[in-house]
Amino acid sequence: MAELILKPGKERSLLRRHPWIFAGSVARTEGRLRPGDTVTVLDRDHRPLARAAWSPHSQIRARVWSFDPSATIDHAFFKRAIAAAVSRRARHPRLRDQQGLRLVHGESDGLPGVIIDRYGDVVVVQLTSAGADKWRGAIVDAVVQATGCANVYERSDSDVRALEGLQAMSGPLAGSLPRELTIDEYGVRIAVDVAGGHKTGFYLDQRENRALAGTLAAGRRVLNCFCYTGGFSLQALAGGAAEVLSIDSSAPALVTASHNLRLNPGLDHQRAEWREEDVFQALRGLRGEGRRFDMIILDPPKFAPSAGHAERAARAYKDINLQAFRLLEAGGVLMTYSCSGGIGIELFQRIVAGAAVDAGVEACIIHRLAAAPDHPVGLAVPEGEYLKGLVCQRA
Ligand code: SAH
Repeated sequence: MAELILKPGKERSLLRRHPWIFAGSVARTEGRLRPGDTVTVLDRDHRPLARAAWSPHSQIRARVWSFDPSATIDHAFFKRAIAAAVSRRARHPRLRDQQGLRLVHGESDGLPGVIIDRYGDVVVVQLTSAGADKWRGAIVDAVVQATGCANVYERSDSDVRALEGLQAMSGPLAGSLPRELTIDEYGVRIAVDVAGGHKTGFYLDQRENRALAGTLAAGRRVLNCFCYTGGFSLQALAGGAAEVLSIDSSAPALVTASHNLRLNPGLDHQRAEWREEDVFQALRGLRGEGRRFDMIILDPPKFAPSAGHAERAARAYKDINLQAFRLLEAGGVLMTYSCSGGIGIELFQRIVAGAAVDAGVEACIIHRLAAAPDHPVGLAVPEGEYLKGLVCQRA
């Protein structure tokens, strides 16, 4: 078995159960190592600490599979880990009956580099590390066994694969895709484009927040910015919104969004308007048109993938929140999100507070939001907490 020996003191984060070993922490390796191979991690005194996957091309040089240094990493390991992740969700009353569900959430489920989402009878796998890539066969077998789902599709086309020296891979791994795949999310039917949509097809992390938007929307004029395929818009309509204007710059996303509306004949289609536009420009244009809203949702893409991008991202968040506050009627609510790992909740709250001041409005936070419980955050891996949201009510 190959070994990875840490520099003095570099075992500290591992002892706190953080699963990443950075390049700068590695003193040396011993034995023949190919990408994704399992190594035993030792401190400088050769005390064994963990078993990890070797990622020679990444700054995160190894990712821990097990903090038991004698653990065997084999097919049975993945069977156990994936079955455990699936059964944790099956025990949660808000997750148990979901047709769209994240089954494995990487590090927080003890499986670095492994994302597995389920949409009805289809399971979508995204493998983003050399270790996860090496074990794809075991991972697919394990998820088929744990779910009884015979259709597995791979969407390993995330940019982070390049950092691992891995090529993008997409396509069926087992079974096939149905002609149309739809899920029910709290009473709303949504088509999921597993092959061509963003991420694995849908933003499951916002499920509970979309439901909350539905409960707040009754009688309100709603503006949904960065609407993707209309998840928030459909819940707002189902919740009795007076009108819903939805904006996204992606034409294919809006095609699916209109289709989603047709999948829900019970909703009042007259109240829905879709616009293909850049949100930064659209918000200014709406002010020019004299439009006002009682509820505004801002769910932008990741402006700051890492702390290095935080300053530019902060300006972008400030801008859209400022423009949104200016369009918000007294008593109205702003539901605003950041999914940037590089922007913490305290900074995000300061940005939103600054936006309110500059817009000349007073507002209070009435809800603090995060990703749904099928996207857990390992206590030892706080950087896994990427999604944060504030619901602010204007005075
Ligand atoms: N709220 C959605 C997810 C939003 S993801 C849901 O619940 O499903 C972010 C969306 O922002 C993507 O659909 C992307 O196409 C869109 N987007 C990115 N930059 C944009 C811009 N400058 N203007 C408008 N839309 C943008």
